[in-house]
Parts: sequence; C-alpha cells; structure tokens
Amino acid sequence: MQSSLSLLKLSTLFNYKYFFMKPIFKNLIWLLLLIFSIQLVIQAQDDNKVRVIMIGAHPDDCDDDGGGTAAIFAQMGYAVKFVSVTNGDAGHQLIGGVELAKRRFAEAQEAGKRLGVVYDVLDNHDGQLMPTLEVRLQIIKKIREWNADIVIAPRPNDYHPDHRYTGVLVQDAAYMVAVPNIAPETPALKKNPVFLYFQDRFQRPNPFRPDIAIDITAVFDKKISALDAHESQMYEWLPWIGHYADKIPKDKTERIKWLAGTRKQEIKPEVKSALEKWYGKEKAAAIKNAEAFEICEYGAQPDQAMIKKLFPMVAK
Ligand SMILES: [Zn+2]
Repeated sequence: MQSSLSLLKLSTLFNYKYFFMKPIFKNLIWLLLLIFSIQLVIQAQDDNKVRVIMIGAHPDDCDDDGGGTAAIFAQMGYAVKFVSVTNGDAGHQLIGGVELAKRRFAEAQEAGKRLGVVYDVLDNHDGQLMPTLEVRLQIIKKIREWNADIVIAPRPNDYHPDHRYTGVLVQDAAYMVAVPNIAPETPALKKNPVFLYFQDRFQRPNPFRPDIAIDITAVFDKKISALDAHESQMYEWLPWIGHYADKIPKDKTERIKWLAGTRKQEIKPEVKSALEKWYGKEKAAAIKNAEAFEICEYGAQPDQAMIKKLFPMVAK
C-alpha cells in the first residue's frame, strides 16, 4: 500500500501538466526564458562587434606596430586578435628551440592580457619563414575563423625576411579568404575585409603612406606595458643584437621607463598631416604618440564613411 502510494505521488510529480502548472516550475521556466533571451542579446551584440586581426611575424611585432591602436579597439569593445606567424624560437642569444618558443608564448599571453586582446602564435620556425602554400592556408584560416573586418600586417618590403614574407603571405590571403574552394574546411568569408599595413621606415620601392593615423597618447603606457611583457626581447635579445645591452637598467620600474623612452619617437611630418586630417589641427597639435596605417590595394576599399565607421576614434 505504502509503495503504491509513493508510486502514485511519483507519477503525479512527473505528470506533464501537473509539473508545469506548479508555480515554482512556472517561475523557473520564465527564469530560463529570460536567461536564454539575455544570451541571445549578448550573442547579437557580439556578432555586431567590429573584428580586428593584426598579423606579425614574431611574438611582439603586433604589439610594437599596433599595440596602442589595439588597446583603443579593445577598450571600445571590438574583438581584437594578434597572430604571430612564427613561434619566435630564434630570437635569443643564449636559448633557442622549444625552450625559447615556450618562453615567448608565455610572454605573448601576458602581453595579450595587458592589452585586452587574444594572442595566437603559429608553430612556424623563427628566421626560416617562407611564403608557402601551407602557411598561406594557416593565415586564411586565422582570418576566416576570426571573421575579420580589419586585417593589419606588414608591408612586403623589410630588412627581416620573416616580416617580408608575413607581408606577402597576408597579401596572398587577401583575395583567397573569400574563395570557398580554398581551405573548404573553414567557411569562406561572405565579405572581404579591409587590409591595412603597419607603418615602417623603408623607402624602396615606395615609402609608407599614412592613410589613417591614430592618436595613442592615452594608451601609450598600456602599449609599453605590453612590450614590457616580452622580457626576452625588450631587455635581452634586442639589446644584445643591437649592441646596447649595457643601457638596460636592472631595476624593473627603471627599465619600463627606459623602454618607454625608446618608443617615444617624434611624429613624422606625413603622419602629422594624417593626424591633422582625421583629428583636426588643434587636436592633432596635442598628440604625443601615434600609430599610422596604409590601406592595402587588395581587399575591400573603404571610403571616408567606412573608415569612420571602422575607426570611430578618428571621427572629428
Ligand atoms: Zn619581428
């Protein structure tokens, strides 16, 4: 008798109508529906986010060339990713190989955290990068997976072969990201992103043209903090290869100050003109630090309105 009563209770409990009519379950359903709707709204906002991918040859290149702009984008709520095409396993005078690659991966993760960006490192050897089909496919996948609206990479003329070939590889990916038959396991982009180049100092075959210049004065310390995360480079390898290792302060606070000093460069006249174009003369006069970008001929060609939409910080 006892057991049949329990059975009855149990069956009543799992009776569909009874279960859903209980006030507690009604409230629970409303709560779940609410959570579900909030998630949908968040998802929709996420889908509307402008998505930026910066691609450099080594784990510290994007930080150096676009770290300030990346920090501003991240603060604005954009989704920002850095990709290092090599693992950096040649950039040190005392260690190399897997040991160095691991150290540099950890430094890149810390730098990414400090800037608010995702930092990917591809497992290609440093100093040996070639513009092969294999690496081109890796880059096509990265740009597609990130569903990028903006892609920033080096120009294909540079003293360092890894920088040069990263430029070539990204250029070679610019059209292919929209071709479904290439790397079909990663869906092709429906729209071609805007491709831009990082600023460089090289004059041949043609000098860098600053189409867009960004005021990074307010986030300059953040950029320096990201560079400071690359200890093996900023305080060990680059000073060693550049013959200025004796200039690095031992004290951690002092060496960040020293690092900031090395990155405080005078704004070149052509970048100054670009800043005046985008920010107005008065605002441009107060800008202490800037990063500039050239629009690549491949990929989507943005008009003024599009540039202002993608780079709203320049809208006067
Ligand atoms: Zn580099």
